[in-house]
Amino acid sequence: MKDIVIHWMRRDMRLHDNRTLLAALDSGLPVLVAFLFDQEILDRLDNAQDRRVTFIHREALKLKAELQEAGGDLLMDHGNPTTVWANWIKQLSENGLNVREVHVGRDYEPYAQERDRKLSNWFDQQGIAFKGTKDSVVFEKNEVTKDDGKPYTVFTPYSKKWRKALQPSDYAPANSAERLSQQSLVGMDELVHQQVPTLEEMGFENVWKEGALVPPTIVEDQLLKSYGDQRDFPSVAGTSRLSVHLRFGTVSIREALRQGLATSEKWTTELIWRDFYQTIVYQFPHSATDSFRPAYDAIPWLNDEEQFEAWCQGKTGYPLVDAGMRELAQTGFMHNRVRMVVASFLCKHLLIDWRWGERFFARHLLDFDLASNAGGWQWAAGSGCDAAPYFRVFNPTSQLQKFDKDLIYVRKWVPEYGTSLYPEPIVDHAMARVRAIETYRSVLKPNP
Ligand SMILES: Cc1cc2nc3c(=O)[nH]c(=O)nc-3n(C[C@H](O)[C@H](O)[C@H](O)COP(=O)(O)OP(=O)(O)OC[C@H]3O[C@@H](n4cnc5c(N)ncnc54)[C@H](O)[C@@H]3O)c2cc1C
Repeated sequence: MKDIVIHWMRRDMRLHDNRTLLAALDSGLPVLVAFLFDQEILDRLDNAQDRRVTFIHREALKLKAELQEAGGDLLMDHGNPTTVWANWIKQLSENGLNVREVHVGRDYEPYAQERDRKLSNWFDQQGIAFKGTKDSVVFEKNEVTKDDGKPYTVFTPYSKKWRKALQPSDYAPANSAERLSQQSLVGMDELVHQQVPTLEEMGFENVWKEGALVPPTIVEDQLLKSYGDQRDFPSVAGTSRLSVHLRFGTVSIREALRQGLATSEKWTTELIWRDFYQTIVYQFPHSATDSFRPAYDAIPWLNDEEQFEAWCQGKTGYPLVDAGMRELAQTGFMHNRVRMVVASFLCKHLLIDWRWGERFFARHLLDFDLASNAGGWQWAAGSGCDAAPYFRVFNPTSQLQKFDKDLIYVRKWVPEYGTSLYPEPIVDHAMARVRAIETYRSVLKPNP
């Protein structure tokens, strides 16, 4: 039997600057890279045209080709993780390969934590070491805490401590790609029963049109230098569009941070927000599905289904809201400023439970990330750890005047705006604002 180690890729779909891959290579044993389409996650996707599945599938095939080029391969399958792993270990053993270690980049979401706990026990029983590495964030878990060791729940002091703690070693590149060419990999010839699951076998369709939807992985320094001035205008290409790449690890957070530190303090702060929400979901797993502040779970939401449908379809009669919802439906992306406006509109103007909106975003966003999405939604609803106060109700009309006054963004996504085809507002702003504040106040009164 030949001893090998496996690098199981999840949120780190790249060969360069990959700390988990480097940890696997550091074992000194031949490395096999694996990727599995987790059926537990696929089962929650109700749309056969889900863009993310196509994105991941394409990235996995690219990695497979890159690994084959380097003399290795990507082991792929789909199914329940425990079942797939049991099959893999058995098949590899039949091929004379004895798996000594399985390396993963740590994932902080509640489902992933639970899955990894179970798998860790299972690997333990098989005599295989299951090893986690921090790769997808700069600081994790308890690395940035208050002086008394408790987690921060407010962003500004967290970000100050984060910046103070930061050392060059925290963002130094990992030379994983260079090392690949110097070390023995487990290749195709050793994997007899190789399967490459197709999208169709998994119940999905290929929704990709060549060149569409995926933003580049490289961001110009110039864009980041003017980020502070441009980031709030949805008609301007003023943000990095790296979110999908940071979500699936097609760009390393450390390479992003290196560029941020060299070009833009404001943009670096956004990367810190990302770490903050990952830490919050790890420390307070309930916040992924319930209000971070439990008192907010008592808000008597109206949850009007017709109004929810109008919001989903971008037919609320508020042009900035409608443009954002249509951008989301057509591209899987929505500009951050507009995410804030549509989220606030749903929770405050329509008094619809933030979870309805959070789930809708989860279905449609190419960059969907549970921690940032629940964090963003709870920020808008007021129920989050460091949220907009409940009495702050965005005015969607003044937001439009401020951030898209020439209607460039609105006209792009809502071509019938200004004609008789465009709907009247489904709710009156002044009435809705007062109603929202009173409704929130009614349950939060003694302890807002
Ligand atoms: C209601 C709501 C839901 C959101 N859902 C998600 C989500 O599911 N996935 C997601 O990645 N972001 C989410 N965000 C945060 C933000 O809107 C996106 O990260 C951003 O719009 C992505 O565009 P960009 O890559 O051009 O960002 P840039 O402005 O260029 O920022 C760079 C990177 O920093 C991170 N970042 C930026 N803003 C935030 C933020 N507020 N919180 C956490 N990380 C941030 C992202 O990784 C982003 O790619 C949400 C925000 C709101 C208000």
